[in-house]
Amino acid sequence: MLEDKNQNSTSLSDLGEFGLIRHLTDAIKLKHKSSVKGVGDDAAVLHFDKQLLVTTDLLVEGVHFDLSYVPLKHLGYKAVMVNLSDVYAMNGNATQITVSIAVSNRFPLEAVEELYAGIHLACKMYGVDLVGGDTTSSTKGLLISITAIGEANKKDVVYRSGAKPNDLIVVTGDLGAAYLGLQVLEREKQVFQANPNAQPELDNYTYLVERQLKPEARKDIIQLLKDLEVKPTSMIDISDGLSSDIIHICQQSEVGCNLYEDKFPLDPQVIATCEEFNIDATMVALSGGEDYELLFTISLDDFDKIKGNPNLTVIGHIVDKNEGMHLVTRANQKVELTAQGWNALLKKD
Ligand SMILES: [Mg+2]
Repeated sequence: MLEDKNQNSTSLSDLGEFGLIRHLTDAIKLKHKSSVKGVGDDAAVLHFDKQLLVTTDLLVEGVHFDLSYVPLKHLGYKAVMVNLSDVYAMNGNATQITVSIAVSNRFPLEAVEELYAGIHLACKMYGVDLVGGDTTSSTKGLLISITAIGEANKKDVVYRSGAKPNDLIVVTGDLGAAYLGLQVLEREKQVFQANPNAQPELDNYTYLVERQLKPEARKDIIQLLKDLEVKPTSMIDISDGLSSDIIHICQQSEVGCNLYEDKFPLDPQVIATCEEFNIDATMVALSGGEDYELLFTISLDDFDKIKGNPNLTVIGHIVDKNEGMHLVTRANQKVELTAQGWNALLKKD
């Protein structure tokens, strides 16, 4: 894919490191009051009255993404989303990011511009300032490290550790689509490798592919919870998969849980594709990962406030620690939850 663009490509070495940073960050206008100084000095200067939230993520080509089917603009966008999602999972507001990349010389300037186009778009859509970072060369492949900074009033911060027995377990959006999107893209890649003239057949999988390539962090839910006057007792974002992530909440809260299979929110495309691929939709929902939805617990007293909201689904409840962590199946059987991320799922194929 990258090679196609070589007709009008500019070598990164023509610009030099400082020229490149200037080129990529020239047009930035800072929006947040807390951003005192962004790119252009030895360090950014930020000023906060609230508690600071800081999270960082490192993405490595060949480990976290495959450029044969991930467009660079989408990659830039997703790399920002992954980080903002962690800030929202603390019930905070994301305000700044820094972006560092290492690129090999097989990437022309135009490729790096595409990556940054996605990063800038994410910043614009989510009202976040890009205030710093670094670019350097790598001997092989592309690495992206993003740090997100956010803020929250001390009383509003939600940790993983606050879930109590009888709390309801709530998930936003729907589950499993991002994992299936990855399976679809992998399959099309193999078809393409066998026959480079084959046209990708993605029409039936548009939602799945979009969820994999262009996830959206749930900033809207943080506002919704404020509007509903609901403060979750614990919260996490679903990056590794529902099963792994509810286990994080249970372990840090020292509680158990029951999840109900028949309550899992699944998109019709997820159900249809699971049938086609002959995989269990519940397994995909539990272990798929990369949905970047929010998973949280609320006091039973708050149920009336969230009841019927189309963004929120109650999928279970918290129990005492000694009752363990279980999935209750449609046949009313209890199955112990295990922390299988999407890696474990892949091995089963
Ligand atoms: Mg997280």
